[in-house]
Amino acid sequence: MKIIVASFQCESNSKAKLHPQKHDFEYFKGEDIFKKLVVKEIFVENGFEVVPSIYAVALPSATVERDTYEYYKEQIMDTLRANPDAAGVYIFFHGSMEVEEIGSGELYLLKEIRKVVSKDCLISISLDAHANITDELCDYADIISGFKTVPHIDQKECQQRSANALVYCLKNGVKPYAYMQRVPFLLKNDTLQTAYEPLKGLIEETVALEKAPDVFTANLFLGHCWIDAPNTSASTVVCATSKPRAESIAKDLANKLWATRRDYKFLCEAELPEECVKRAIEGKEKRIFITDSGDNTTAGAEGDTTGILRLFLKEKTRKKTCVAGITDFDIVNDFWNKKEGEEVFLQQFDCVGKIKAHGEILGWTKEIIGRSLTIAFDNVDAVFTEYRSAFIEKGNFDKANVDLLGYEIVVVKLGYLFTELKPYADRELFALSDGASCVELARLNLKKIVRPMFPLDEFDFKA
Ligand SMILES: [Zn+2]
Repeated sequence: MKIIVASFQCESNSKAKLHPQKHDFEYFKGEDIFKKLVVKEIFVENGFEVVPSIYAVALPSATVERDTYEYYKEQIMDTLRANPDAAGVYIFFHGSMEVEEIGSGELYLLKEIRKVVSKDCLISISLDAHANITDELCDYADIISGFKTVPHIDQKECQQRSANALVYCLKNGVKPYAYMQRVPFLLKNDTLQTAYEPLKGLIEETVALEKAPDVFTANLFLGHCWIDAPNTSASTVVCATSKPRAESIAKDLANKLWATRRDYKFLCEAELPEECVKRAIEGKEKRIFITDSGDNTTAGAEGDTTGILRLFLKEKTRKKTCVAGITDFDIVNDFWNKKEGEEVFLQQFDCVGKIKAHGEILGWTKEIIGRSLTIAFDNVDAVFTEYRSAFIEKGNFDKANVDLLGYEIVVVKLGYLFTELKPYADRELFALSDGASCVELARLNLKKIVRPMFPLDEFDFKA
């Protein structure tokens, strides 16, 4: 029996401007996809023939344009069309891919797949915990498994759960049922962390539920508030051997998740940018980080806003400060040939700066993706990058040729600091800034989401 394997992922952000292009997807084809996916052994050991399709995964970006989507979708469909006798299909999605003209990219692909495969073919998928589940998803996917950790560290276990359930059902002739219950809230993503209560306990409950012989997966999906679409919200999804069982567990989990809606708080100081700058300048700690959360490049934003840099320029701080990773192709390009120490006039800031360092941008998969240019404005160094970047670890600063350890204040375009940066931060300030990844739902002005939606609306809900 054959199982087709693929992965196609991009987390979308409706407010972001940079649509992912074909070359933005990390791409593997055939056997090479198993450099990234861990399911092959499970299928092979259980006697299945594995048919690899493609792995195409991009960083969070603006919505996916139709032709980019079709380009990868058709490659997956080609594998399906060449193997219409497949007994199973396994796909690792994100779950929040929004495609222009189409809507949910995951749902559309599943519908296309169902037109090709036999009616008994089982489809098993894995999803990010921030997936926005569509109402119809469970009509097209038999087994759905989501990450149980935020920040995400269980991608492998999630794939294995989906694969093991698929193997079990195929070997035993079991038809699994998936049930989705929407939970009408959209909370600040950065306040939802699974290492802390109340999510910790709820996740433990899903793990306990999955130990029952008739439950394959029990999932909490927290939603992803940066897509303006009707399926944007939290939800619970349960896959079990019978529909009533899946439904009753999904509803029970949904009611429990809803009951926690007021219990999520930031894990560090979260303030408006002006207050963060003030606290950083006055702070006694050796090194203070500010995250510019509204322009979080790891959430799809461009990383091109200069609000916090401008606040520091105005304050004329004596503290050695670095604002890292401002996307500005023109600044890098126009001044690239200037030597270190040379003065340049930056019209947009109406001030003179000094070239401090030429460097490189370290990309998401540790490759070099372009040039960076650091310009000093007295005590404030701004690292400009010609393309979007994410300063998530010391290596990003090293490649840009700036000494992270030499700064007392560091500004990066993230939500929470990545674990790799935490050892360098004696204090962390979360700036509630505007931008494509603004965490304040009311400021996002979403038009297509279903209402009522907490916290925009106050209402009672029971699944
Ligand atoms: Zn996620």
